[in-house]
Amino acid sequence: MTAEMCLFCRMASGEIPVERFAANDLAFAIRDIHPRAPVHLLIIPNQHIADARLLTAADGAMLAALFALAAGAGRAAGVDERGYRLAFNVGEAAGMTIDHLHLHLLGGRPLGPEG
Ligand SMILES: [Zn+2]
Repeated sequence: MTAEMCLFCRMASGEIPVERFAANDLAFAIRDIHPRAPVHLLIIPNQHIADARLLTAADGAMLAALFALAAGAGRAAGVDERGYRLAFNVGEAAGMTIDHLHLHLLGGRPLGPEG
């Protein structure tokens, strides 16, 4: 999928209006439309990168912004004290449905083991 057609790129550019739970210069957070926990946020970099298999050391600043935004969003969502899960799905076998890197923040209930 090209960056021009990508749903998250179109959200990042403002072409598709979306309610942002939080944002910083390099990333934004939205609520997952199919939440699997009481709190289920997607932390999305503005920059198009298909998935975590393509990350390199040059993506350090973007990743730092992604995790900093996740930390702030976790506090804002009220799940930081009890804890939450941060997860990247990578590719089809992991259930990745939109080919634009995004970090899942899940919390608000006890979470089972990963997998
Ligand atoms: Zn994209």
